[in-house]
Amino acid sequence: MRVLIVEDEPRLARNIARMLREDAGYAVDVSGDGEDGLHMAITNPYDLIVLDLLLPKLDGLTLLQRLRADGKQTPVLILTSLGQTQDVVAGLNAGSDDYLTKPFEAAEFLARAKALVRRSYGTGDSTLRVADLAIDTKARQVTRSKHRLTLTPMEYRLLEYLAMRKNQVVSKTDILEHLYEFNWERFSNVVEVYISSLRRKIDADASGKTPKLIVTVRGMGYMLQEPEEK
Ligand code: CA
Repeated sequence: MRVLIVEDEPRLARNIARMLREDAGYAVDVSGDGEDGLHMAITNPYDLIVLDLLLPKLDGLTLLQRLRADGKQTPVLILTSLGQTQDVVAGLNAGSDDYLTKPFEAAEFLARAKALVRRSYGTGDSTLRVADLAIDTKARQVTRSKHRLTLTPMEYRLLEYLAMRKNQVVSKTDILEHLYEFNWERFSNVVEVYISSLRRKIDADASGKTPKLIVTVRGMGYMLQEPEEK
C-alpha cells in the first residue's frame, strides 16, 4: 500500500510518515505544498491521501476538488486544525472520505487510515483471509493453518497488497508502484525475489491438502488465489 501525505509542517509530516511506515507497513510519499501534492496525487496510484487543508500554493479543499474532477477516486483523509462543523462539512462535500482534527491520537489516525484503505479494496474486516492464510492488518501478523509466519517488512507489504486484491492478476508494474516510494530505484526483478521468498514461507508445506496460494500468471503477473472448493 502506498500513501501520499500533503502537509506543510515538516515535523508533523515526518511523524505521520513514520507511523504509516512503521505501524501500518505502508510506502509513504510526502509533499509540502498543494500544487506539488495535486500533481503527485494525479500521477501516482496512491491507496490513500492524507491531506492538510491550509497549504501553500493551493489549499487542500481546492486540491481535493480538482482531484475528484480529474476522476480520481483515491480515498482521502483530511487532517487539519480547522475543526468547525462548517469546515468538516465543506471537506466531506469536496469529496473527502474521512476527517480528523489536530491534535489527534496516533492510534485513531492509524485505525482510520487503515480502514479507508481496506474499504477502498472492498474489505471491511481488518483480517484478510485466503484459504487458511490469515493476515491481521492491525497487528501485522500472518498465520497459515494457525502457524505464525515471520515476514520481512517488504514481504508483508507485498502479501498485504496481493491479499487486498485476491483472486485478481496483479502485474509487476502495479506491484512496484504500490510497494515503493517515489524516486526509489525500481527493478522489476525484485518482485520476483520477494515473490519467491514469500512462496518459501507461505506455500512451503503446500501439498494436496494445503494448496499453493501464490500463482504465477505467465506474462501477466501474480495472483493470491482462493483455491476452488473440491
Ligand atoms: Ca498546514
